[in-house]
Amino acid sequence: MPNWLDPVKAILDRAATPVDVFFRDDDAGWANDRLYLLLDEFAKVEIPIDLAVIPEALEDGLGYELLSRWRQNEHRLGFHQHGYRHTNHEKEGRKCEFGNSRSKDKQKDDLAKGQHVLRNVLGHSLDPFFTPPWNRCTQATVECLGELNFQLLSRDITATNLASSTIKQIPVHIDWSKIIKSSGQALPEMGEVIASNFASNKLTGIMLHHEDMDKEQLQPLAELLAVFSGHNKLRGLLLRDTLGTG
Ligand SMILES: [Zn+2]
Repeated sequence: MPNWLDPVKAILDRAATPVDVFFRDDDAGWANDRLYLLLDEFAKVEIPIDLAVIPEALEDGLGYELLSRWRQNEHRLGFHQHGYRHTNHEKEGRKCEFGNSRSKDKQKDDLAKGQHVLRNVLGHSLDPFFTPPWNRCTQATVECLGELNFQLLSRDITATNLASSTIKQIPVHIDWSKIIKSSGQALPEMGEVIASNFASNKLTGIMLHHEDMDKEQLQPLAELLAVFSGHNKLRGLLLRDTLGTG
């Protein structure tokens, strides 16, 4: 009987060299119960995951929980900054917290405040990386990130090109929630999309939104993780593992 993971298994079986993948879960700070369920799944199979954390939503209880999980295995969990408040400042057009209607000064102020909040709670477990809400920001944002000593920016592979000589850009390729929500044949499509990305990318990024996944909705992801963890050609990375390579 065909299984939605067959194309993924086939491409891993054929791979001559390891296939690199990273998971970026956005919106840590919201829906903590679902976040912990997701983190439990990743811990079970020992696959790393990066969390994009909303500074203004990081309450003490969440900070404590994240740090205690990080201490259990700091090589499998990464934390970085996801905007400041995750709020939309644009009056028209697509939602953006770091968009054209925000001056560079305002953007830098928000970035610095967020960085301060996260550092206070997460200390040296925090990576100097940034994922903008809705995967959107501007050239001014990148300049601010450089001035604030960030090292890496993660957006979506389709995002407009931004120039920086100091900030490494590592995009995600697959929007898990979007595929699940938009297709009647979501899982077969997911299998094909993951396989085709593995075939063409050196490193494939999969974006998750834990708030969209209850225990039942986590099941397909758990199935994927089981395939990954059991395959010697799959290499799970953290964003921080990509620094210094390529
Ligand atoms: Zn977000």
